[in-house]
Amino acid sequence: MSFRNRLTLFFVAIVIVPMVSVAFVLFSLISDNEKGKADAELRARQQTAVNVYTQARQAADKLAPKVGTDARLADALRDGDDAAAKRRAAQLQKELGLVRLRISDRSGTRVDVGSRNAVAAATRTLEDADGAEFGRLQLSDRSAPVYAREVKRLAGLEVVVKGSRKVAAATVENPPDTTLPRVGVVELRGTDFRVASFPARGFGDEVISVSILSSLDQVESEIGRSRLLAGGVLAGFFILAITCAVLVSRSLQAQIGDFLEAARRLARGDFSAKVPTQGRDEFAELGTEFNTMASQLEQRLEDLRRERVRLESTLRRLGEAFASNLDRDALLAIGVRTTADGVGADGGRATGGEGERARGGELGDLEETVLRVEADALEKGEPSELSADSGSALAHPLRAAEGDEILGVVSVWRRGRPFAPSERELFHYLAGQVGISLENVRLHETVQRQAVTDELTGLSNHRRFQDTMASEVERARRFDASLGLVMLDIDNFKMVNDTYGHQVGDQVLAAVSRVLHEQSREIDEPARYGGEELAVVLPGTDLEGAFNLAERVRAGIERLEFPSANGGALRVTASFGAAAIPDSAVDHSGLIAAADSALYVAKRSGKNRTERAVREGARPPQ
Ligand code: GH3
Ligand code: MG
Ligand code: MG
Repeated sequence: MSFRNRLTLFFVAIVIVPMVSVAFVLFSLISDNEKGKADAELRARQQTAVNVYTQARQAADKLAPKVGTDARLADALRDGDDAAAKRRAAQLQKELGLVRLRISDRSGTRVDVGSRNAVAAATRTLEDADGAEFGRLQLSDRSAPVYAREVKRLAGLEVVVKGSRKVAAATVENPPDTTLPRVGVVELRGTDFRVASFPARGFGDEVISVSILSSLDQVESEIGRSRLLAGGVLAGFFILAITCAVLVSRSLQAQIGDFLEAARRLARGDFSAKVPTQGRDEFAELGTEFNTMASQLEQRLEDLRRERVRLESTLRRLGEAFASNLDRDALLAIGVRTTADGVGADGGRATGGEGERARGGELGDLEETVLRVEADALEKGEPSELSADSGSALAHPLRAAEGDEILGVVSVWRRGRPFAPSERELFHYLAGQVGISLENVRLHETVQRQAVTDELTGLSNHRRFQDTMASEVERARRFDASLGLVMLDIDNFKMVNDTYGHQVGDQVLAAVSRVLHEQSREIDEPARYGGEELAVVLPGTDLEGAFNLAERVRAGIERLEFPSANGGALRVTASFGAAAIPDSAVDHSGLIAAADSALYVAKRSGKNRTERAVREGARPPQ
């Protein structure tokens, strides 16, 4: 069920149902009340009718003595002259304004003049001279129609006066013949009337019934008016309730809509817009909590994003580390940055030998702290840490694989929060790994060097010589450049070995190699060709250049002097063959063969000399 439907159901339950019940009860109360009021009113009017009737009888009572004491009437009655009595009665009726006058005795009615529909009769006992009762006098000055009109005038209601047999008077047309109820409702010509009746004494022993009738139309219209008023008030309340409900519902829906929209924005990853939080109600609290949650979520996501960036850069650095595995400084830089990032440091660096080797981040005001912690680690050869007001720093010594020699220090620093134990542990582990990487590089460099270097002479070995020759010949061919090659062989070396021993021979070979190395340029490649035969590849050097270099080396060897056991000095010489592309040959093997041949010529020509190799057809140098 939707939120809106729930609100509607709630509204129906707490407003509409009670309101309909109240309306029902109120309407029936109004009806009862109006009817009760009408009854009370009717009773009050009935009292008026009773009063008028009583007054009429009292008026008749006052006239009774005048008739009772009339001598002429009394004489006629006593004399038994009913005709005279009747005449006198008619005279009195006229004089006194009576409606009916009747005198009776034991024998029956003696005199009865006037109208039959007289009401409210006064009754007197007639006595003779002795005081003995002989008859009864009844008189009335009110006829039923007069009485009915007077009651209608005073009470404002319709009146029906009914004798024992028929209707004596009525203010309505065609009154019903039936006896009207004491209290009740009758219908006359299509109109309902409330009726209240009371019995009254008529003439003789006759009992008449006086009914007053109040039209129900008025009551009904009163009920209608009251109901209209109540209905209006209820409708007012209803409209008020509906308005309030709609307003509350709209505001609730708007607030919930805001939350929903905000939640959707969050789901889309938009944290910028907040839920509006006005007032201090639960919605405001909910909104505040929601906003707090959103900003925490944003913070978390930001942390995660940063973490991911860090992880990515670490992975990238790992890749770089794989790629630059054998570049010591690149490796050191990657190691320092990874270590600093790994422990959330502001910066880090590696120092060794000549000073700083790699750095990430600025030292700033922490420089002194870092310097102190590095010095401490260097001095003690152990991990060190230091905290100052501005921040903290950690340092880890870098050791050579063998022995206790400390090659340098890796340090990291951070402002504010000091390093946690777990961060310290991670730092020392990572710094240790940096040391291991450096050691690996060193080992690799050694192996690589050993693979291409001759151990005794420190020159390139034969394989390296051949590789260099191949690439330099190719380059010379491509760029149409010259490439020189000098080969030399120590003269009478067998004799040196034989005379001074193999060790001295080795020393001589090493010293000759040093001379060759010293005379070579950076781009030249001096090598041990084999045995006591050496060679030097000379990129960009022609035959003459090669010859000159050979001569310089030859002179250098001549100057060498070795102390010998017998006190004399041992001196050696060497023979040289100089060749070049394109002067002596055009390819790799041709160049070596040319230099070798020239060397052979030098040996044959007396040793301690240099011979040039000249290609057949090529112009010999001057
Ligand atoms: P030549 O002037 O004709 O070159 O005479 P040579 O005595 O030098 O003759 P040869 O080239 O035939 O002899 C080379 C000798 O060099 C043989 C070998 O014992 C010695 N030799 C080669 N390699 C080494 C080495 O590494 N150390 C020592 N001590 N001697 C070596
Ligand atoms: Mg030799
Ligand atoms: Mg030799």
